[in-house]
Formats: sequence, structure tokens, C-alpha cells
Amino acid sequence: MEIVLGGDLAGLTIANQLNKPILIEKEYKVGGLSSSKRIAHYIVDRGLNVLNGVNDDFKPLGRLIKRKKRVKICMGKNNLIDFNFPRKVNDEKNKPKIENYLEYLNATFEDEGLNNFYIPYSEKFWGINLKELGIDWIEENNNCSSEYFWYPKKGGIGYISFRLFQELKRKNSMLLLNNGIAHIDFINNIIKTSSGFTMNYTKCYNTLPFSELAGGFPDNVKEAIVSLKYTRNHYISYVIDKSYVSSEYQDLHWVYFPQKEVPFFRVNFPSNIGSNNCLPQKTLIQCEINGNPVDCIKSLLDMGVVTKKPKKIFIDYAKYSNCIPTINRKKNFEIVNKFLNEHNIFNYGKFGTCENIQIYESLNIKI
Ligand SMILES: Cc1cc2nc3c(=O)[nH]c(=O)nc-3n(C[C@H](O)[C@H](O)[C@H](O)COP(=O)(O)OP(=O)(O)OC[C@H]3O[C@@H](n4cnc5c(N)ncnc54)[C@H](O)[C@@H]3O)c2cc1C
Repeated sequence: MEIVLGGDLAGLTIANQLNKPILIEKEYKVGGLSSSKRIAHYIVDRGLNVLNGVNDDFKPLGRLIKRKKRVKICMGKNNLIDFNFPRKVNDEKNKPKIENYLEYLNATFEDEGLNNFYIPYSEKFWGINLKELGIDWIEENNNCSSEYFWYPKKGGIGYISFRLFQELKRKNSMLLLNNGIAHIDFINNIIKTSSGFTMNYTKCYNTLPFSELAGGFPDNVKEAIVSLKYTRNHYISYVIDKSYVSSEYQDLHWVYFPQKEVPFFRVNFPSNIGSNNCLPQKTLIQCEINGNPVDCIKSLLDMGVVTKKPKKIFIDYAKYSNCIPTINRKKNFEIVNKFLNEHNIFNYGKFGTCENIQIYESLNIKI
């Protein structure tokens, strides 16, 4: 019996390549981080989720997606600027030795971008001292800053997982929604779920954070799991009449806010991203917060995003948003990965690999 743990893009993509697998998902519906929810007249995604690095014919999705020209990536409050901060020119011979992310930022950016954006924004986004972050995750040519992104023509980003789920249902796979992992017996290859299902696996494909795999781990593996850290995000969605959104923000897709006094690190404008997720005369605004939920209305007014109080429509929560790329992340990942592989459990997706991979990478997984 082949079992897939997790029903978001990675798990669904894997399950669709297997012959009648069992898919276990703890939520009542699939989609995980890339799910969408309908609230009255609105479709709300879990944070900003758009497709980067694909093309109009991207195989797994074909004609379901639409290309959009990215409206410049900016930074909030009086300085809506292009994301092109001047870089330092380092003399190759005297290049400083870089061991952590703070050192990398100091060596890479001139003071303006460094102090006004990169340092305060990164501290807010990751929520830890930047000296604790490694440098193995830095992508110099990140396709997130390319000219275009893609988004489903219908619904929210959750339309992608919905389609993959439909495909899986047609194949008569066994789909256990509303089932968390209660216990894994690594010696006898048995998985028990929170609703009491017990099953043997010959091979298991895991896309969950390791801390969700409740099982009898040896001490060194337990230690490595505890050392892996994750960000925890809240997504607070508001709606407002279009006319009360300040003109500078009217056409934007999202804006970064590095300011310490502002609770959110990013504000998204989902109604500028999707086609049908909002009433025509309204604007959806979503604030992303690392940590506990806070009322964002005052800051939205203070930062000049809106000129009148918007109405809160939904608060969403992700216990795991990103695996924090700490200096020891790779080492700890390897310890857990090795143990799981020895027990026929193989790791994929954002949390299975502890890499903050993108949607197209999950959709491209080949087993
Ligand atoms: C704020 C944010 C913004 C992002 N923006 C972008 C973007 O713009 N573009 C992009 O390409 N990517 C983006 N990503 C990444 C993208 O959302 C993910 O790569 C993709 O959704 C990950 O899919 P996954 O299957 O690997 O992981 P997940 O979505 O984490 O899937 C894991 C699944 O396992 C389930 N699960 C968890 N615990 C258990 C348990 N105990 N038992 C059973 N099931 C369990 C979860 O409910 C979930 O469905 C973003 C991510 C975040 C957090």
C-alpha cells in the first residue's frame, strides 16, 4: 500500500502519479498553504500565492492559468519604489567571508536598501536574529522578481489543488480528509490516523513538517526535529469600496512593509490578482502577519493604504508557513531524512524537503 501524507500541491501531484494510493490530509479539504476560501462574495487565498517561473502552456495546468504583468514590487509609506536597491561592488580578492544572512546583507547592499528594507523586513518576515539564518537559501536570480506571474483564470489559487483533487477522485484513490497522523510505527510500517484508521505502508510519501509525524523517533532524530523552526502566519482580510483605496495603491498586487511599528510584513490586493474574487466596486486587502493576529486597520490608515476604515471579513492561520533557513537546517534535515528513508518514508514538497519551494516546483515533482 502506498500512502501520501498531505493534500496540497506536492501531495496531490505525487498521488496522481501512483496507482490507487491512500492520501491522508488533516483538513476537511485539500489545498494546504495554497487553498482558497469563499467568504460571502469574496474568494480569499491563504496569503499571497501566485505562480512564478512557468509559461502559458505550463503542462500540469495548461489553459487554466492567465499571465499577469507584475505591478512593480514596492515598499510602503511615502516611498513606493522599485525593488532595485543599489548593490555594493565587492573587490573579488578582498571579498568578505560570509557565514550568516546578516553578513550577506551587509556585504551585498548599500546602506539605503540595507537599513530601510533588507534588515528590518527580514527580521519581521523570519522573526529571528538574522545571524541565525544561513546563506544556502539565497537565490541570486529569483524568478519572483520577473516581469510576469500567473494565476488561475477561475476562483483563487485553490483552483489548482481543486483540479488535482478532481483528477485523483476520478482514479478511485482512497482519500482520507479530516485525518491527522496520530501515530507512525516505523518498525512495522504502520500509520494510524486521528479518526482511527490503521494501515500498513510499503512506501510512504511525506509532505508534512517533520514535527507532524508522531512516531517513535530515536533521540538524535527527535532533537533534529525540534531544532527545525517554522514561521507561523496570520492572514487578515478586509474589504473596502475601491474609492477609499489611496491612488498609489489602486493597481498594485502587493506591497512590503519593513517598518517595525507596522504589524504586517506585506499587504496584498487579491482583487487586483484574481479576476472574479471580489465585487466589482470593492477592493480586497489582505495583511500578512508573522505571529499573533493584530488589528491592522490603524496601520492601514497610518501607512496611507486606505482613507477610511475597511471591514474585516476573515482571519486565516497557518501553523507552518515557512521552514526557517537557520544555519543548522540542512544538517538537521539530513538526520531526519536519513532515518525516514531507512523506514520507507520519502520526503517531498515545501516541508518534506525543508526548502521554501514554489508552487511550480511542487507541481513538477516526479517520483
Ligand atoms: C505566505 C506564503 C506565500 C507564498 N507565496 C507563494 C507564491 O507567491 N508563489 C509560489 O509559487 N509559492 C508560494 N508559496 C509556497 C506555496 O504555497 C507552497 O509551495 C505550496 O502550497 C506548498 O505545497 P506543499 O504541498 O509542499 O505544502 P503544504 O501546503 O504545507 O501541504 C501540506 C499539507 O499537509 C497537511 N497536513 C499538515 N499536517 C498534517 C497532519 N498532521 N496530518 C495530515 N495532514 C497534514 C496540510 O493541511 C497541507 O494540506 C507561499 C507560501 C506561503 C506560506
